Order: sequence, then structure tokens, then C-alpha cells
Amino acid sequence: MEFIDKDIQDYAAKHTTEASKLLEKIDRETNLNVLRPRMLSGHMQGRILSMFSHMIKPNRILEIGTYTGYSALCMAEGLNAKGKLITIDINEELQPLVEKYFDESPYTNQLQYLIGDAMKLIPTLDDKFDLVFIDADKSNYSNYYDLIINKMNPGGFIIADNILWSGKVTATPKSNDKDTKALIKFNQKVHEDVRVENVLMAVRDGLMILRVL
Ligand code: SAH
Ligand code: CA
Repeated sequence: MEFIDKDIQDYAAKHTTEASKLLEKIDRETNLNVLRPRMLSGHMQGRILSMFSHMIKPNRILEIGTYTGYSALCMAEGLNAKGKLITIDINEELQPLVEKYFDESPYTNQLQYLIGDAMKLIPTLDDKFDLVFIDADKSNYSNYYDLIINKMNPGGFIIADNILWSGKVTATPKSNDKDTKALIKFNQKVHEDVRVENVLMAVRDGLMILRVL
């Protein structure tokens, strides 16, 4: 489902800075060679993530759900010079490809790529984060939130992707699938949580932006 008129979307994309050659290559190759390429953030959302990251100038970023590395490299653009981005994915099949892309980027020394179940790996991290991007399995969004909320620096930001789930969160009759239910629960839970301020941005598939108080 598209939320915004197609012409307006094209106009917005045309008036948004292009992604780097490497990001364009990752986008192209993912669409040609990798399963479920729709999961890749893509040009507009990538530029939004990059812009947020530049605003925050994070020292530590955590990404849950690397896929082919597109969003990680977008957020890395805003890291401060000594900053580090940790990204986690359970799919080891993409590891050689992702490592190749990371090595081709200017941020290779600032990227730490962990393979495994994020539910198990996050508790092993000692860092405190300024920016966290939640973009892995939707049924665990609430669990990821619980695991990271105490690992946030005050004033840090959490961004959760796909929280409108192609519009299914408002479908009538109510959608019965597990992911939709989990996302509805997540959106309500963070909205009620006094530890964060929240803005639900209805761009692309929905971004929930949380500021940790
Ligand atoms: N952030 C990427 C897209 C991520 S797609 C981008 O915007 O370009 C979601 C990813 O979450 C997939 O690569 C999938 O393998 C990963 N994933 C699913 N369950 C996971 C889990 N339990 N732990 C870690 N990663 C998981
Ligand atoms: Ca996503």
C-alpha cells in the first residue's frame, strides 16, 4: 500500500540527495540477486536515516536487522569520527556479501557486524547507544525494545521500521496475523511508555521515532 500520491513521491525522490554509488550498487544487486529485496530501505528511507544520523551525530549506533547492509551504511554516514555502528543479523548466508560491501565503504573500521539471534546477542553488548534502528522480525519488536531501553544514553533515539505494516495496523476487520498484532501492541506500548517521547511518521511503511528521556 502507498500512503502518498505517486507523483508526490516521485517529486520528493527527485528533490532528495542521491545515495552514494556504493548504496546504489547494493540496491541494484540486492534486487537482482537476493531474496525478498523489498526489505531493503532504499533511496528515500536511506536518506531519511542518514539525515537523522547526521542530526544526532551518534557515537554508538545499534541496528537490529542488517539484511544486505544498506541502512547500516546510511546511518554510518552520520557517525562521529570515533563512533561505531554495531549491526546484527541472524542470516549467515548474506555474510560474505555484506562484508564485501562494508569493506568497500569508507566506514569499514567503524562497523561491527554480528551474526546471530539479536535476542541472544543484545544482552551481551556493553555499549550505551545514541541511536538504535529496530528492523528485524516484527514479532520481537517489543522484546527488542525491552532489551535496549536500558542501554540507551539519555536523549538517545530509537527508530522502529515498518510499524504501519502496509496499512494492516488499521485494517477492518482486524488483521489476525501474528506480525500485525505484534506491531499494534508495540506501537501502543511505546506510546504509553513515559520513558520515551514518540512520533509516528507515516512515511514509506511507517517509522516510529522515539526519544529517550
Ligand atoms: N535494515 C535492512 C533490512 C532488514 S530486513 C535495510 O533497511 O536495508 C530484516 C532482517 O532481519 C533480515 O535480514 C533477517 O535475517 C533479520 N532477522 C530476522 N530475525 C532476526 C533475529 N532474530 N535476529 C537478528 N536478525 C534477524
Ligand atoms: Ca524495514
